[in-house]
Amino acid sequence: MRAKLSRIKKDIETLATYTSTPSSGVTRLPFTPEDKKAREYIKEQMINSGLKVRVDGVGTIIGRREGTKPNAPVIMLGSHYDSVKNGGAFDGTAGLVAALEVVRVLNSEDITTKYPIEVVAMNDEEGVRFKGGMLSSRAIIGEVTDEELDTSIDEDGISIKQAMVEFGIKPNLHEAKYQKGAIKAFMELHIEQGPILEANKKEIGIVKSIVGLSTYKVNMVGRAGHAGTTPMDLRVDALLAASKAIIELNTIVKETGGDTVGTVGELQVQPSVANVIPGTV
Ligand SMILES: [Zn+2]
Repeated sequence: MRAKLSRIKKDIETLATYTSTPSSGVTRLPFTPEDKKAREYIKEQMINSGLKVRVDGVGTIIGRREGTKPNAPVIMLGSHYDSVKNGGAFDGTAGLVAALEVVRVLNSEDITTKYPIEVVAMNDEEGVRFKGGMLSSRAIIGEVTDEELDTSIDEDGISIKQAMVEFGIKPNLHEAKYQKGAIKAFMELHIEQGPILEANKKEIGIVKSIVGLSTYKVNMVGRAGHAGTTPMDLRVDALLAASKAIIELNTIVKETGGDTVGTVGELQVQPSVANVIPGTV
C-alpha cells in the first residue's frame, strides 16, 4: 500500500497557484477569488476520489467515505487550505493533500474501513483577514457565535458573515457543529513550523503538545528629555527600563526551562528621535 508522490506533488503545486501574490508565495485569504479557485479544485479532487462532498455552514469542505459500522463516529483527516500572507506551499495544504491521498490509496487497495472517513478542508484557520482564526475547527466544536460572524471585520469593514454571504455560503453554525462523540479521531499532517526536525535530520515527528499563547502589552512610562543636556543621574529613560525587562524575561524563561518560550517582538518608542531620551515605550 503506497502513496503516489506524483499525485501529492500535483495537488500541492496546483493549490499553490491559487494565490493573490504570484511569485511571492501563497496568499489565499478566506472568501476571496483565490479561495474560490482552491475550493473548486479541492471539491473536484474529493469527487474524483469517490468522496461525497458537502460544504458546512461556515464554508468548510467535507468529503465523506462511508465505513462498515452503522452510525459510527467519523475519523477526520485534513487541515486548512487558507494561508498567511506570502505563506509557503505546504502550510495546511500538505495535510489536506495527505488526507486525500490516504483515501486514494484505500480506494486503490479496495479497502473499506470500519469507521467512516471524512476529509476536511478547513478555512480561515490563520486568522489573517478577520483576526480571529481557526474558524472551521471552532465551528466544528461549536465555539463560534453568530455575534462573532457579525462583529469580526476585515480591513475594509466587511464582516465574516457578509464575506460568506457574498461568497455564496449561507452561514449556519448549528449545522456546522458536530455533536459530542461524533468524531472518533482527528489526524492532521502539518509541515513543521519550527526548526527542530530539520536540525535533528528527522523526516517526521509526532506533536505531543502545542504552545498555549498569552500576549501582554506593557507600557513603560519614563520622562522625555534632551539627550545632550540631561545628565545621566537625572534621567528616567523608558527604553532603558524596557531593555532591562526584556533581558529579565529572557532569563526567567530560560530558567523555567522545558518547552517554555518568551518573546518581545514589538516596541513603540516615543518620541523615537535620536537626540531625545525615550519618554514612553
Ligand atoms: Zn498551518
